[in-house]
Amino acid sequence: QAKRAGRNTIRFFDAEVRAAVAARIVMEADLRTALSEEQFRLVYQPQVDAEQRVIGAEALVRWDHPLQGEISPGEFIPVAESSGLILGLGRLVLSTACYQLAKWEKDASMAHLTLAVNVSTRQFRSVGFVDDLLTIIQETGAPRSRLKLELTETVLIEDLEEAAETITTLSRLGICVSLDDFGTGYSSLAYLKLLPLSQLKIDQSFVRDVLEDPAAAAIARSVVGLGKSLEVEVIAEGVETTAQLEFLSGIGCRLYQGYLFGRPTEVEALERLAGRLQGA
Ligand code: C2E
Ligand code: MG
Ligand code: MG
Ligand code: MG
Repeated sequence: QAKRAGRNTIRFFDAEVRAAVAARIVMEADLRTALSEEQFRLVYQPQVDAEQRVIGAEALVRWDHPLQGEISPGEFIPVAESSGLILGLGRLVLSTACYQLAKWEKDASMAHLTLAVNVSTRQFRSVGFVDDLLTIIQETGAPRSRLKLELTETVLIEDLEEAAETITTLSRLGICVSLDDFGTGYSSLAYLKLLPLSQLKIDQSFVRDVLEDPAAAAIARSVVGLGKSLEVEVIAEGVETTAQLEFLSGIGCRLYQGYLFGRPTEVEALERLAGRLQGA
């Protein structure tokens, strides 16, 4: 009987794997269509300073699937990466974001805003990434100094030397680089002083647990300390409660992003928030 159960388990597992593979193939095909039919859009989540003024935003991609509705990037970015479609999608995200930055630049009440854009490791490491970016910046007229690229530690783990070179090039061009999800990678800290980074972003998993878990609190505290000694800005993401905010402020973290200040929204809502909070 055990044998039969075992066989059934294997057959069940097999079917599940096959379904997952099929779903992936379908999603890849749908992604290809989505790129040519403009099913993607960007939403903008505010980033605030210690006085809770909106200093900028993070652009986050959304996919409005014609049949399945909104699909979260957590689901489709990995498929876009493994299929190579991330290169086209990444370019689309960058040009939309740069276009928005250029628009803000011409509006006195928005010209101070920075815009952070997520760049996947495969995109960052692709041939011609910097050249493509410069072309987009030139075509849109976006102010380079207000563009911030969010990279994850994977970029550094895969090829530190190459990453350092590209980050240095970007930094010389005046483009800011932020390390997203910081603390979740397994990279050594020694590299940090070699890189002209402008920001470390405390991962939301630590922020979430900061009040209950002493380890999370200790990690948040050390990222802030690291930022101070390396003279790199530190921002906390995923701030949801005033208690978390108070803790973060107490350890010297001065920049925040999270539902407490605003969810990712259409650009108009972000602009209203920026205008309103600026005057407050
Ligand atoms: P991320 O860059 O770390 O972005 C933060 C994620 O946390 C976003 O999820 C955001 O909506 C969510 N978030 C923000 N504040 C809070 C909060 O207070 N509480 C909680 N629970 N969550 C919060 P989202 O938009 O689903 O994006 C997930 C991930 O997908 C991003 O993580 C990023 O790695 C990736 N991603 C999103 N847009 C892009 C893109 O344009 N290009 C690439 N390559 N990756 C993207
Ligand atoms: Mg990010
Ligand atoms: Mg993050
Ligand atoms: Mg993340």
